[in-house]
Amino acid sequence: MFAERREEALSVIHPGWDRYIEDIPSAPIIWLSIEVPMMVHEVVIVGTGPAGLMTAEQSAARGLNTLVLEKRKRVTDSLMGELVTDKALKMLRVKPTSEYVGNKFTAIVGESLDTGANIVVDRSLLGNSYLLDEDRCQELMRDRALSDGAEFRFESRVSSVIEENNAIRGVKYNKTQSARAGLTVGADGSFSRVSATAGFTHPKWLLSYGYRYKLANCKDVDPGTAYFYVGKDVGLGYLWLYPRSESEVNLGIGRVPSSVENWNKLMPMREVLNKYMREHEETSNAKIVGVNGGVVPCAGIIPRFSDAGVALCGNSAGQVSSIVGGGVTTCLHAGRMLATHAKRMADESDYSKKSVKEYEKEYRTSKLAYNITQTGKGMYAVARYSMFNDPISAAEIVLDELDARTLNELIQGTAGVSTYMNLFSNFLPMVMRIGMGYLKAIAVSGP
Ligand SMILES: Cc1cc2nc3c(=O)[nH]c(=O)nc-3n(C[C@H](O)[C@H](O)[C@H](O)COP(=O)(O)OP(=O)(O)OC[C@H]3O[C@@H](n4cnc5c(N)ncnc54)[C@H](O)[C@@H]3O)c2cc1C
Repeated sequence: MFAERREEALSVIHPGWDRYIEDIPSAPIIWLSIEVPMMVHEVVIVGTGPAGLMTAEQSAARGLNTLVLEKRKRVTDSLMGELVTDKALKMLRVKPTSEYVGNKFTAIVGESLDTGANIVVDRSLLGNSYLLDEDRCQELMRDRALSDGAEFRFESRVSSVIEENNAIRGVKYNKTQSARAGLTVGADGSFSRVSATAGFTHPKWLLSYGYRYKLANCKDVDPGTAYFYVGKDVGLGYLWLYPRSESEVNLGIGRVPSSVENWNKLMPMREVLNKYMREHEETSNAKIVGVNGGVVPCAGIIPRFSDAGVALCGNSAGQVSSIVGGGVTTCLHAGRMLATHAKRMADESDYSKKSVKEYEKEYRTSKLAYNITQTGKGMYAVARYSMFNDPISAAEIVLDELDARTLNELIQGTAGVSTYMNLFSNFLPMVMRIGMGYLKAIAVSGP
């Protein structure tokens, strides 16, 4: 019904008419109240991170009338995330040898900056790990969406959703403008305006704050090896070094503020990166050619992320692998799934709560969602432990005790029953310490 009315309207009005009308606030009221439908878009997507871009690409590919709103000037202005496995390449439909992949790693090293203790996950255990060329991947998804008819409006800052008759009907942006659609998608990141104004809640919301330098002019870097570091200066999180070539690396840090007091005791994040650069020969003369940052949720999927006329996707829904803070694969996966549901909703002209919830239901039963939920619980426990204990001890214990195979299985989300049995017998002290810290935390501040 809605689709038919849209076709009818589009056949008599040139594309982009709604934007024209939005610029003249007094015009549409009389006109629209006659016969023309208020919604010309089936989907309006807020945000052009990996979640929004994949939803846009896949919605447009399915013939949906898709509008994308982004507060920044272009898709490449925001950080997408870069270390991924085969899964992400498959969803992006790019080859490992293509220009969309910047590097491939043959080993990953986990190391303590304080003690030098390390573990090496080598080729025999490592699945394929790639460094994406983020800008090219973002442009690729944008261009695919554009060529299938999606419309992008940059410098469009969304302030709130439009709610009518207990359903979300679109969004307001740039103070005076609005965009209406059957389905509104909040892919606007960790501080989602769509989420906040549509009434979704985020209990136990743990956020990891991250900074990243792009460095050039480095010396003798082994391009095949990526590094993860823990240490007292790092706090609850890790520092990473991903080589792009022998002379270029991406150096970043992500940290969870377990408490204000603990956070204030720690060295500022950029200072930790600067210190690392000074103290390592490979980077001591390097030039910073790019700085970026962002915030990633790591407490797992939020309790509810769909409602009548609205769905969240990506960071806004907590769809991020909690322990490592990896969001690219999970966002692409969710965006693709949401687009198939958007198509169903458009075909049935049904954007009711029940209909949109089908997306949430399918998402929650996926393997990725299961892994996010499990790691989210673990991260929550570790953060609570750290609130009342030395924040670094949990990470240090893990690094000292775990072997490479187990670490790799946990990171890849492939750990089976035997791994967990091993964990419980071999690493009982660690589990006990974290568990006791968790109980202590709950006793003090409630679950
Ligand atoms: C430093 C750092 C390094 C990371 N590295 C990796 C990695 O190597 N591998 C990995 O898998 N993951 C990584 N991640 C995580 C990954 O980047 C995120 O999980 C992912 O980008 C989330 O995608 P998203 O589309 O949900 O949100 P975002 O990427 O946050 O995109 C949200 C978009 O919405 C826009 N927006 C926000 N508010 C509004 C508004 N009101 N109106 C209009 N537009 C709005 C923003 O400008 C932005 O473009 C990293 C994160 C950080 C911070």
